[in-house]
Amino acid sequence: MDEPSRVREAAALIRGCLPDLVSADDANTIDRVVSHLLNDADMDRSELAVQLIQVLDTHARIRTWVRRVLDDDKLRPPEIQEVEERGVDPIGSPRPVRARCFKCPYGDFIWYQRTAAHTPPNCPTHSGALVAA
Ligand SMILES: [Zn+2]
Repeated sequence: MDEPSRVREAAALIRGCLPDLVSADDANTIDRVVSHLLNDADMDRSELAVQLIQVLDTHARIRTWVRRVLDDDKLRPPEIQEVEERGVDPIGSPRPVRARCFKCPYGDFIWYQRTAAHTPPNCPTHSGALVAA
């Protein structure tokens, strides 16, 4: 996957995590901009990556989170990287854990299922169900 595609994936991935990183107001504002950019079919891929990075560079916590995702071969959220690398599931039993990845068919929202108890949400932009990636 080339760099513009990786940035696009990281942006789709952070949408569901924004409320954990910044205030609700900031999360809503950033999500609107990111969603708009990701769904702009006319934008050049490299230009899209530049604009996404600009938006995601505005908060230190988001910048750090995105950098950790881009540093990961599999583009996993940092929380998932930690759980998978420790090999401990959230309940504490020592077995390898693999979180399941779900994506919007339009590619603008990516979500990781950490435990079977969490049901995948619908895409906040398209309202449709996510599909297992
Ligand atoms: Zn979508």
